[in-house]
Amino acid sequence: MTALLSIRELTAGYGGTAALDGVSLELAAGETAALLGANGAGKSTLLKALLGLVPAGGGMRFDGADISGMATEDRVRRGIGYVPEGRRVFAGMSVRDNLEVAGLPAARDRARDVERVFTLFPDLACKSGERAWRLSGGQQQMLSLGRALMGRPRLLLLDEPSLGLSPKLADEVFAAIRGIAADGTAVLLAEQSAARALSVAPRAVLLRLGRVVGDGPVGALSQETLRMAFFG
Ligand code: ATP
Repeated sequence: MTALLSIRELTAGYGGTAALDGVSLELAAGETAALLGANGAGKSTLLKALLGLVPAGGGMRFDGADISGMATEDRVRRGIGYVPEGRRVFAGMSVRDNLEVAGLPAARDRARDVERVFTLFPDLACKSGERAWRLSGGQQQMLSLGRALMGRPRLLLLDEPSLGLSPKLADEVFAAIRGIAADGTAVLLAEQSAARALSVAPRAVLLRLGRVVGDGPVGALSQETLRMAFFG
Protein backbone atom coordinates (compact mmCIF):
# COMPACT_ATOMS: atom_id res chain seq x y z
CA MET A 1 0.00 0.00 0.00
CA THR A 2 1.25 3.50 -0.75
CA ALA A 3 1.89 5.59 2.30
CA LEU A 4 -0.22 8.66 3.00
CA LEU A 5 2.86 10.38 4.40
CA SER A 6 6.42 9.57 3.49
CA ILE A 7 9.42 11.35 4.96
CA ARG A 8 12.95 10.69 3.72
CA GLU A 9 16.14 11.80 5.42
CA LEU A 10 14.61 14.93 6.85
CA THR A 11 17.00 17.48 8.31
CA ALA A 12 16.24 20.73 10.08
CA GLY A 13 18.02 22.99 12.48
CA TYR A 14 18.13 26.33 14.18
CA GLY A 15 21.31 28.23 13.40
CA GLY A 16 24.17 25.79 13.87
CA THR A 17 22.21 23.19 15.89
CA ALA A 18 20.70 20.20 14.11
CA ALA A 19 17.24 19.45 15.50
CA LEU A 20 16.40 16.74 12.92
CA ASP A 21 19.23 14.63 11.64
CA GLY A 22 18.03 12.36 8.85
CA VAL A 23 14.52 11.32 9.94
CA SER A 24 12.70 8.84 7.71
CA LEU A 25 9.25 7.44 8.34
CA GLU A 26 6.03 6.48 6.63
CA LEU A 27 2.45 6.64 7.81
CA ALA A 28 -0.42 4.83 6.12
CA ALA A 29 -3.87 6.35 5.60
CA GLY A 30 -5.82 6.10 8.84
CA GLU A 31 -2.80 5.05 10.87
CA THR A 32 -2.03 6.51 14.30
CA ALA A 33 1.54 6.76 15.53
CA ALA A 34 2.99 8.33 18.64
CA LEU A 35 6.13 10.39 18.34
CA LEU A 36 7.96 9.87 21.59
CA GLY A 37 11.11 11.34 23.00
CA ALA A 38 12.52 13.48 25.75
CA ASN A 39 12.45 17.24 25.85
CA GLY A 40 14.43 18.55 22.87
CA ALA A 41 14.38 15.26 20.92
CA GLY A 42 12.95 17.05 17.90
CA LYS A 43 9.26 16.14 18.06
CA SER A 44 7.91 19.67 17.64
CA THR A 45 10.46 20.45 14.94
CA LEU A 46 9.37 17.39 12.96
CA LEU A 47 5.71 18.47 13.05
CA LYS A 48 6.63 22.04 12.12
CA ALA A 49 8.83 20.81 9.25
CA LEU A 50 5.89 18.79 7.90
CA LEU A 51 3.82 21.96 7.88
CA GLY A 52 6.60 24.06 6.35
CA LEU A 53 6.86 26.21 9.47
CA VAL A 54 10.61 25.57 9.75
CA PRO A 55 12.94 25.11 6.77
CA ALA A 56 13.89 21.48 6.22
CA GLY A 57 15.99 19.41 3.85
CA GLY A 58 15.15 15.94 2.57
CA GLY A 59 11.97 14.54 1.05
CA MET A 60 8.36 14.84 2.16
CA ARG A 61 5.46 13.36 0.22
CA PHE A 62 1.83 13.54 1.23
CA ASP A 63 -0.93 11.74 -0.63
CA GLY A 64 1.31 11.19 -3.64
CA ALA A 65 2.52 14.79 -3.97
CA ASP A 66 5.91 16.28 -3.14
CA ILE A 67 5.08 18.81 -0.43
CA SER A 68 8.63 19.74 0.52
CA GLY A 69 8.63 23.08 -1.27
CA MET A 70 4.97 23.90 -0.67
CA ALA A 71 3.60 26.86 1.26
CA THR A 72 2.04 25.97 4.62
CA GLU A 73 -1.46 26.93 3.49
CA ASP A 74 -1.20 24.57 0.51
CA ARG A 75 -0.18 21.70 2.78
CA VAL A 76 -3.16 22.44 5.01
CA ARG A 77 -5.44 22.63 1.97
CA ARG A 78 -4.18 19.23 0.85
CA GLY A 79 -5.32 17.71 4.13
CA ILE A 80 -2.75 18.20 6.86
CA GLY A 81 -4.24 19.53 10.10
CA TYR A 82 -2.08 20.84 12.93
CA VAL A 83 -2.74 21.45 16.59
CA PRO A 84 0.26 23.35 17.96
CA GLU A 85 1.44 23.15 21.52
CA GLY A 86 -0.40 25.51 23.81
CA ARG A 87 -4.02 25.61 22.57
CA ARG A 88 -4.30 28.31 19.92
CA VAL A 89 -7.81 29.69 19.90
CA PHE A 90 -9.21 33.17 19.33
CA ALA A 91 -9.91 34.11 22.93
CA GLY A 92 -12.39 36.91 22.19
CA MET A 93 -14.47 34.93 19.68
CA SER A 94 -17.29 32.56 20.47
CA VAL A 95 -16.71 28.82 20.31
CA ARG A 96 -18.86 28.58 17.19
CA ASP A 97 -17.04 31.44 15.45
CA ASN A 98 -13.67 29.88 16.29
CA LEU A 99 -14.82 26.80 14.40
CA GLU A 100 -16.50 28.70 11.56
CA VAL A 101 -13.40 30.73 10.67
CA ALA A 102 -11.37 27.53 10.39
CA GLY A 103 -13.97 25.88 8.14
CA LEU A 104 -14.39 25.17 4.46
CA PRO A 105 -15.63 27.99 2.20
CA ALA A 106 -19.07 26.48 1.48
CA ALA A 107 -21.53 27.35 4.28
CA ARG A 108 -23.30 23.98 4.09
CA ASP A 109 -20.03 22.03 4.51
CA ARG A 110 -19.06 24.31 7.34
CA ALA A 111 -22.32 23.82 9.17
CA ARG A 112 -22.02 20.04 8.86
CA ASP A 113 -18.46 20.12 10.17
CA VAL A 114 -19.39 22.31 13.15
CA GLU A 115 -22.06 19.75 14.05
CA ARG A 116 -19.52 16.94 13.76
CA VAL A 117 -17.17 18.75 16.14
CA PHE A 118 -20.06 19.31 18.57
CA THR A 119 -20.92 15.60 18.43
CA LEU A 120 -17.31 14.72 19.17
CA PHE A 121 -17.07 17.32 21.96
CA PRO A 122 -20.45 17.71 23.66
CA ASP A 123 -18.84 20.11 26.15
CA LEU A 124 -18.24 22.55 23.31
CA ALA A 125 -21.78 22.22 22.04
CA CYS A 126 -23.08 23.42 25.41
CA LYS A 127 -20.82 26.45 25.20
CA SER A 128 -21.15 27.31 21.52
CA GLY A 129 -22.03 30.96 22.20
CA GLU A 130 -19.46 31.43 24.94
CA ARG A 131 -16.25 33.34 24.26
CA ALA A 132 -13.25 31.02 24.11
CA TRP A 133 -11.38 32.66 26.99
CA ARG A 134 -14.15 31.55 29.33
CA LEU A 135 -13.49 27.85 28.58
CA SER A 136 -11.41 25.61 30.82
CA GLY A 137 -7.95 24.52 29.62
CA GLY A 138 -9.28 21.15 28.54
CA GLN A 139 -12.16 22.73 26.64
CA GLN A 140 -9.77 25.12 24.90
CA GLN A 141 -7.66 22.13 23.87
CA MET A 142 -10.81 20.50 22.48
CA LEU A 143 -11.64 23.69 20.61
CA SER A 144 -8.12 23.77 19.21
CA LEU A 145 -8.59 20.17 18.04
CA GLY A 146 -12.02 21.02 16.68
CA ARG A 147 -10.57 23.92 14.69
CA ALA A 148 -8.05 21.57 13.07
CA LEU A 149 -10.85 19.14 12.19
CA MET A 150 -12.83 21.87 10.40
CA GLY A 151 -10.37 21.60 7.49
CA ARG A 152 -11.30 17.89 7.11
CA PRO A 153 -7.70 16.72 7.45
CA ARG A 154 -6.62 13.26 6.42
CA LEU A 155 -3.59 13.64 8.64
CA LEU A 156 -3.68 15.36 11.99
CA LEU A 157 -0.44 16.50 13.64
CA LEU A 158 -0.83 16.96 17.39
CA ASP A 159 1.84 18.59 19.51
CA GLU A 160 1.61 17.57 23.17
CA PRO A 161 -2.15 17.93 23.49
CA SER A 162 -2.17 17.00 27.19
CA LEU A 163 0.47 19.52 28.26
CA GLY A 164 -0.67 21.50 31.28
CA LEU A 165 -3.98 19.67 31.65
CA SER A 166 -5.17 17.86 34.75
CA PRO A 167 -5.17 14.05 34.41
CA LYS A 168 -8.96 14.08 34.12
CA LEU A 169 -9.02 16.65 31.31
CA ALA A 170 -6.09 14.94 29.59
CA ASP A 171 -8.12 11.70 29.65
CA GLU A 172 -11.01 13.50 27.96
CA VAL A 173 -8.76 14.95 25.28
CA PHE A 174 -7.23 11.54 24.64
CA ALA A 175 -10.64 9.92 24.42
CA ALA A 176 -11.48 12.47 21.72
CA ILE A 177 -8.25 11.69 19.86
CA ARG A 178 -9.17 8.00 19.92
CA GLY A 179 -12.52 8.95 18.38
CA ILE A 180 -10.86 11.01 15.64
CA ALA A 181 -8.49 8.14 14.83
CA ALA A 182 -11.38 5.67 14.81
CA ASP A 183 -13.09 7.86 12.20
CA GLY A 184 -10.20 7.10 9.84
CA THR A 185 -8.04 10.20 10.22
CA ALA A 186 -4.31 9.45 10.37
CA VAL A 187 -2.73 10.93 13.49
CA LEU A 188 0.87 11.73 14.36
CA LEU A 189 0.96 12.52 18.05
CA ALA A 190 3.97 14.09 19.74
CA GLU A 191 3.93 13.36 23.46
CA GLN A 192 6.33 13.30 26.34
CA SER A 193 4.19 10.91 28.34
CA ALA A 194 4.78 7.51 26.76
CA ALA A 195 2.00 5.88 28.76
CA ARG A 196 -0.57 8.38 27.53
CA ALA A 197 0.53 8.32 23.90
CA LEU A 198 0.51 4.57 23.84
CA SER A 199 -3.09 4.55 25.06
CA VAL A 200 -4.14 5.85 21.62
CA ALA A 201 -1.35 4.76 19.28
CA PRO A 202 -0.59 1.15 18.36
CA ARG A 203 2.75 2.30 16.92
CA ALA A 204 5.52 4.36 18.45
CA VAL A 205 8.32 6.25 16.73
CA LEU A 206 11.11 7.09 19.17
CA LEU A 207 13.19 10.18 18.57
CA ARG A 208 16.43 10.97 20.28
CA LEU A 209 18.60 13.96 19.40
CA GLY A 210 16.85 14.36 16.06
CA ARG A 211 17.17 10.73 15.00
CA VAL A 212 14.74 7.82 14.92
CA VAL A 213 16.02 5.27 17.42
CA GLY A 214 13.01 2.97 17.40
CA ASP A 215 9.88 2.47 15.30
CA GLY A 216 7.36 -0.30 15.59
CA PRO A 217 4.26 -1.76 17.17
CA VAL A 218 4.11 -0.69 20.79
CA GLY A 219 4.24 -4.27 22.09
CA ALA A 220 7.44 -4.94 20.15
CA LEU A 221 9.44 -2.03 21.57
CA SER A 222 11.68 -3.18 24.34
CA GLN A 223 11.90 -1.38 27.66
CA GLU A 224 15.55 -0.87 26.81
CA THR A 225 14.72 1.00 23.58
CA LEU A 226 12.16 3.15 25.37
CA ARG A 227 14.62 3.89 28.17
CA MET A 228 17.28 4.80 25.58
CA ALA A 229 14.95 7.27 23.86
CA PHE A 230 14.15 9.08 27.05
CA PHE A 231 17.37 8.89 29.02
CA GLY A 232 20.10 8.01 26.51
P1 ATP B 1 9.80 19.70 23.61
O1 ATP B 1 9.05 18.63 24.27
O2 ATP B 1 10.65 20.48 24.54
O3 ATP B 1 8.99 20.55 22.68
P2 ATP B 1 10.81 18.43 21.26
O4 ATP B 1 11.14 16.97 21.21
O5 ATP B 1 9.56 18.86 20.64
O6 ATP B 1 10.88 18.90 22.75
P3 ATP B 1 12.08 20.42 19.68
O7 ATP B 1 11.29 21.51 20.29
O8 ATP B 1 11.77 20.00 18.31
O9 ATP B 1 12.06 19.14 20.61
O10 ATP B 1 13.62 20.83 19.78
C1 ATP B 1 14.67 20.12 19.13
C2 ATP B 1 15.98 20.88 19.33
O11 ATP B 1 15.91 22.14 18.67
C3 ATP B 1 16.32 21.19 20.77
O12 ATP B 1 17.70 21.07 20.94
C4 ATP B 1 15.86 22.62 20.94
O13 ATP B 1 16.62 23.28 21.92
C5 ATP B 1 16.11 23.21 19.57
N1 ATP B 1 15.15 24.30 19.25
C6 ATP B 1 13.82 24.17 19.16
N2 ATP B 1 13.23 25.33 18.81
C7 ATP B 1 14.25 26.24 18.68
C8 ATP B 1 14.32 27.61 18.32
N3 ATP B 1 13.22 28.31 18.02
N4 ATP B 1 15.54 28.19 18.29
C9 ATP B 1 16.66 27.48 18.57
N5 ATP B 1 16.66 26.19 18.89
C10 ATP B 1 15.49 25.55 18.95
